[in-house]
Amino acid sequence: MKLTDHIKYIPKIGERRAGVLFAELSVKTLEDLLLHFPYKYIDVRRFYRIAELSDNMPHVQLHGRITDFEMKGQGRSRRLVGYFTDGSESMELVWFAGEKYVTQKYSVGQEYVVFGKPKRWGKVFTMPHPEIEPYEGENRRADIGFRTMYNTTDTMKKHYLHSSALRDIIANLLNNVEVDVPETLPPYLIERYRLISRREAIYNMHIPRNQVLLDAATRRLKFEELFYIQMSILRQSVARQEKSEGFVMDRVGIHFNDFYKNNLPFTLTEAQKRVIKEIHADLKSGRQMNRLLQGDVGSGKTIVALLSSLIAIDNGFQACIMAPTEILATQHYTGIARLTEGLGINVRLLIGSTKKKDRDQIHRMLESGELDIIIGTHALIEDKVKFRNLGFVIIDEQHRFGVAQRAKLWAKNIQPPHILVMTATPIPRTLAMTVYGNLDISVIDELPPGRKPIKTYHYYDNKRQDLYRFLRHRLDNKAQVYIVYPLIQESEKLDLKNLEDGYNAMCEVFPDIKIDFLHGKMTPAEKDERMARFKSGQTGILMSTTVIEVGVDVPNASVMVIESAERFGLSQLHQLRGRVGRGAEQSYCILMSSFKISDNSLRRLQIMTETNNGFEIAEADLTLRGPGELEGTAQSGLPFELHVANLARDGIVLQAARDTAKQILDRDPRLEAPDNKIIADRLRQLDRKEVNWSEIS
Ligand code: ADP
Ligand code: MG
Repeated sequence: MKLTDHIKYIPKIGERRAGVLFAELSVKTLEDLLLHFPYKYIDVRRFYRIAELSDNMPHVQLHGRITDFEMKGQGRSRRLVGYFTDGSESMELVWFAGEKYVTQKYSVGQEYVVFGKPKRWGKVFTMPHPEIEPYEGENRRADIGFRTMYNTTDTMKKHYLHSSALRDIIANLLNNVEVDVPETLPPYLIERYRLISRREAIYNMHIPRNQVLLDAATRRLKFEELFYIQMSILRQSVARQEKSEGFVMDRVGIHFNDFYKNNLPFTLTEAQKRVIKEIHADLKSGRQMNRLLQGDVGSGKTIVALLSSLIAIDNGFQACIMAPTEILATQHYTGIARLTEGLGINVRLLIGSTKKKDRDQIHRMLESGELDIIIGTHALIEDKVKFRNLGFVIIDEQHRFGVAQRAKLWAKNIQPPHILVMTATPIPRTLAMTVYGNLDISVIDELPPGRKPIKTYHYYDNKRQDLYRFLRHRLDNKAQVYIVYPLIQESEKLDLKNLEDGYNAMCEVFPDIKIDFLHGKMTPAEKDERMARFKSGQTGILMSTTVIEVGVDVPNASVMVIESAERFGLSQLHQLRGRVGRGAEQSYCILMSSFKISDNSLRRLQIMTETNNGFEIAEADLTLRGPGELEGTAQSGLPFELHVANLARDGIVLQAARDTAKQILDRDPRLEAPDNKIIADRLRQLDRKEVNWSEIS
């Protein structure tokens, strides 16, 4: 058979099950099925004893006898229990469905091998839905190596496609059917990286004889997947660079130099200098810049934005800075207006609430070229806003804007302007290289000197009195405090109620302190007003749902309390914490949580107490959640699906794959060399496959 054959022709599958496999797993061809790899390999070279089991064990195999079956529990916890003993101790095998099938198939007293993941309930170990096989003696098992487990769904199980059925079908296919598995990597790469063939790799993923072969198979397939992802992305970006000419900004003139000499309020960090050089190199290259600037909260991205805007101005262009909210835009404006005082540069702010008269004037000044820098919100992308010569666009807090919105800005000059996207949600470089494959990346990986790291603590709710004592102490020291409540999506009412209750409680505990609150139902004007009161120091405590704007700068606020912190994701916790730690005082972040939280939530809170480094947090986030869920970086952005590789964990292979792909394209951009024909063919094949999929779904 060929890899492109439909799975309905595979022995023991047929039309109906083929339909189920397609609906449940998008498996249509033989290749799709062979790429449905086991999610777990159980080491079956040894039997565990029940007495040896502990919490958090992976899948294990045991052997022993079932001594009795019994139905237990009511309603949803109704279950079949099989009492199982191996002589050392006993445990419970548990089924929540299919009890008839189980009691018919397995008999009391018979010796079995049992596979599954043990769980402890009190003193007793249980094993939900184990796999069971007749016991054939210690010796037979010793050389088998691994037992594979396949992902299935309830619907699949209804059609007898459970893990063991898939295992049999695939093993039969690999052992007894002649399947043609062509190589997809050129011999020179196979040799260079000492890879095993694709055929061997696929075989050993399903039927590994030992760990060495399993590792070799995994390595080969990871490399292949990541290599083709990189190839595909890099080829797109080659095409983009060939296409997009950019304005040449090769002068560093009076504005930049003046500012640098006279107005720079501090010495730039090395990281800031490096990034400005990277941007400058792009601006004079003649190609349009598309650059992502990653920098942790407080790392000083604003000054980089300003300095690069000055280069644009020195070359006769206008610059534009777009922020997602009025508060942020205003803050940028105030900061930049102050910094550029006396330089003879015209800076204005354009936001939704800008008065008609000012707005008209700004429109005119933009068109005549009198305005050098315009800062604003969405108001900037309106059609009415026209530029004389827009050359440089900066977008702050990138994930808040849609691609379509941004594209409107590009169109405001005959030739697209240079683009700098700034984000404070760092993602690991390995992932960024892939997900933002078509953006160049700059990183500010250093904070300005003299920052005191924020001290972070996790309190359970029963320590609330301690929290109050701590807040009292800080408030007496003139610190200002944020208290943030999570957004409970199911119930906006509940959100407000939580906030309201919290507010009333705080008013009772701190009757002498001015307390304000903010929530999403307030008008922007109301929010701005309360925010401004806090900023000016009139209020001591600001309580809010998560509307505290990302990026807002209140240096005197040095305590951040996050209520129900277990409900927040890591990157959100980190963003919120970034609201403090901006002044000279020691800052604190207190994470409040209920006592009953999942292991995963607890781990998140621990990570927060252990590090202030946004990149470390992003890495941890990625491992805890998997790249698919990472905010703004859906794995769906990839050109094709990954079966083996994991962007979070396979950074080294990813780097090798990217370097290799780059080298090959540098030498042979169109993949015309005979050596590379196999790569060109495979890329065409993968492209085609994607097209077909989207037609079907
Ligand atoms: P973010 O990257 O979060 O946008 P900002 O640009 O708002 O950070 O900078 C945070 C604070 O650090 C600002 O008050 C800014 O003036 C200050 N800052 C930036 N760069 C430096 C530096 N090199 N040395 C000292 N302070 C700096
Ligand atoms: Mg900022």
